[in-house]
Amino acid sequence: MKRSEVDRNKLSPMMQQYMEIKDKYDDSIIFFRLGDFYEMFFEDAITASRVLELTLTGKQAGLSERVPMCGIPHHAYSTYVDTLIDKGYKVAIVEQIEDPKEAKGMVQRDVVQVITKGTRIDSNIDSKNNNFIANIYAFSYCFGISYIDISTGEVYCSLVEGESDRIIKEVIRHNFKEVIVNNDIDREIVDNLRTQHEILVTITKDELDDKNYEYIYKDIEDVRLISTLKHLLFYILDTKKGDMHHLQRAQILKGSEYLEFDVNTKKNLELVETLRNRERQYSLLWLLDKCKTAMGSRYLKNNIENPLTDKDMIERRYDIVSKLSTEFILRDDLIKELSNVYDLERLCGRITYGNLNAKDLLQLKSSISSLPRIKEILEELKYDKKIETFEDLYLLLDKAILEDAPFTLHEGRLIKEGYNEELDQLKSISSGSKDYILTLEKEEKERTGIKNLKVGFNKVFGYYIEVSKGQVELVKEEYGYERKQTLANCERYITKDLKEKENIILGAEEKIINLEYKLFMDIREVVKRYVSKLQKVARIISEVDMLQSFSIVSDNYKFVRPELTTDRVVKMIECRHPVVEQVMKDKYIANDIIMDKTTDILLITGPNMAGKSTYMRQCAITVIMAQIGCFVPCKSCLMPIFDKIFTRIGASDDLVSGESTFMVEMKEANYAISEATENSLILFDELGRGTATYDGMSLAQAILEYIHDSIKAKTMFSTHYHELTSLEKDLKHLKNVHVSAIEDNGHITFLHKVKAGAVDKSYGIHVASLAKLPKSLIDRADDILNVYEKKNIKKETFTQTSLFELTESESVEKVDPIREKLKELNPLEMTPMEALSYLYELNKEAKEKK
Ligand code: ADP
Repeated sequence: MKRSEVDRNKLSPMMQQYMEIKDKYDDSIIFFRLGDFYEMFFEDAITASRVLELTLTGKQAGLSERVPMCGIPHHAYSTYVDTLIDKGYKVAIVEQIEDPKEAKGMVQRDVVQVITKGTRIDSNIDSKNNNFIANIYAFSYCFGISYIDISTGEVYCSLVEGESDRIIKEVIRHNFKEVIVNNDIDREIVDNLRTQHEILVTITKDELDDKNYEYIYKDIEDVRLISTLKHLLFYILDTKKGDMHHLQRAQILKGSEYLEFDVNTKKNLELVETLRNRERQYSLLWLLDKCKTAMGSRYLKNNIENPLTDKDMIERRYDIVSKLSTEFILRDDLIKELSNVYDLERLCGRITYGNLNAKDLLQLKSSISSLPRIKEILEELKYDKKIETFEDLYLLLDKAILEDAPFTLHEGRLIKEGYNEELDQLKSISSGSKDYILTLEKEEKERTGIKNLKVGFNKVFGYYIEVSKGQVELVKEEYGYERKQTLANCERYITKDLKEKENIILGAEEKIINLEYKLFMDIREVVKRYVSKLQKVARIISEVDMLQSFSIVSDNYKFVRPELTTDRVVKMIECRHPVVEQVMKDKYIANDIIMDKTTDILLITGPNMAGKSTYMRQCAITVIMAQIGCFVPCKSCLMPIFDKIFTRIGASDDLVSGESTFMVEMKEANYAISEATENSLILFDELGRGTATYDGMSLAQAILEYIHDSIKAKTMFSTHYHELTSLEKDLKHLKNVHVSAIEDNGHITFLHKVKAGAVDKSYGIHVASLAKLPKSLIDRADDILNVYEKKNIKKETFTQTSLFELTESESVEKVDPIREKLKELNPLEMTPMEALSYLYELNKEAKEKK
């Protein structure tokens, strides 16, 4: 039975209430609270029963048929919600919103929050990653984009110029899981995000109009950015429905302030996860992350994804890293203190919105207790930002919150003795009565002589005196025992006195629980007032934590402080790939990367597996490390500040969109050459290999010439087209380098050493033999290669002497192609006509040779 087909007039009042709510939250699965269960109905029930493997039942709702229904116990709802959200659904939680005792007629129910991929803030979200929800706002000539992490309160926005491709790239680069778009957006963008990238997309037009949240965009002048933010804020407040004042002022991200690169570069360079397994381990982030706080780790990740371009800001970080490395005792002290600091950003989120518990406040207290010493250390380090230390807040928390308080707020045991007089009185009444009950057992045993008499408590009957069956005879009238419950082997009694004490205890306990809850909520209100100041401290701590991590890795892995130049000179001496170096068993061979003022392009040749792409990657990674303020894996490093990095490394076929490797390659090349400036870094690995040799080679050459003449970006270009190395003669800003290998007796040894000049042969077959292809196959390939090489020799030596570097004496006489062709020939397999035409060809070739 479908919801749309139902005659609503016939429905029970409760189901009518359900229908009204569902109408408003049509795209969400409704968790409808009934007693101890959340129930789902109609299509929601069918979907949820399938996804969550629940039994589908039915409910009488006033119709002839039962309505499909399934349910989950309310206390276990979060795991079910998680599963639904991971599968791309939204869940709207419906609760009673008035006290049933005060309700006239049906108890009112409504959605108290909608939980979606981008708006979840439960404790299950990964502490080392931000969880952003983003929006795209389409304007006539550009897009506004903003994104917010509800758990930490961070708010960012920017404008993106260009076509749909650009905005999609931007969304993918950030790895957003949920995006809100406005009505004017091109539906192709929506389809692309949904189908090719599995992003949860919601189209809404509303913008927030609430003065209380104006502070978030108060400093922003561009009305487009304000609209973008208001659009996202509306959605967030509409789904979360609570106090969101922990959201911070929006930060505008301007392209020019950050080193730009796209999602392919992020993937290719394995900045935050590896290409193959998509794991953090063995990524650059993994190597650099020695942060002590989750905030520090998240900040580091954000920085790796958005390195800086401002020289002063970068140098400032170098100064601090270097200071931390020299003052290593202070650094140890700092690390120790940082270890006590919990995730202040997410704590602030929970203080304002969400399920704050006493453990959170204890974590806050522990964090604050480290601040005075951190403040001192920062002063000693001459750190340029100061932190507040919140002594009064510490005193409050220390005085109020019990050290071993439980996670829930409804069992009491939250508040310390001495904090509130009324609470202390209630507690002493309750414990006085408890003491009475404890001594009662002893007294009654003595009074009655019943040795195994016990005083016990259960939820239904309260306190009772228990006497075993064998001793029941000894219970006398004058004891005033009143039989309450008969069990198989004992009788349970109450007395007037016992009941009186019980009333006092239970009355006091209920009051205690209520009062503790109220006191806790009052404390929360006080703590709320500190949120924005705590967030400020959190930001400073994140940065300090990241910088101490840089200092540690720089010491451990022998990184050096780079020198930033305004000349367009790259001089990375003995540069290494920092991750490969740590992961590989053999010794890593360091290489220089040198592009002086007059060199823009390094054309890299060398056999497969020689280390060409590693060489290129290490250059880009060094640049990124330098521009986040970390030291770099070199013996010394001089480099300019780059504005953008473009890479085409490895085969990142876009299987989803069904485009060929070559098409993807050309699109990426186009993206690079249309966006790069002379301050960019371009890495092209074997560009053009996805098509026929001469096509590929010609395109590669044309692209090189274009970069050389029109863009002038620093470029590393690896190729297996040896022919291209002759370009060095014509393109004066291009230099050949090669990664060397030695061949000995058919075996090849990779030296991984980069040297000036071009390489002399491909060694492809040797690599194939390393891969253990059958010997007969390798021998045959060698033969074929010989033939090809001999065939091409004339042409090659004509166009490019450097490739084979033949000496005079080695020239054509040594290997006569005509003779070779004749040798290959089998006249018995040829028709007379074929033989004649072949003879004609040979004759022509012999004439040309003269
Ligand atoms: P290519 O791009 O030339 O085919 P790669 O850069 O993929 O080669 O490197 C091949 C292998 O050689 C990698 O697995 C890497 O571990 C190793 N390698 C690369 N560069 C070095 C180096 N400088 N020192 C030691 N090993 C290296």
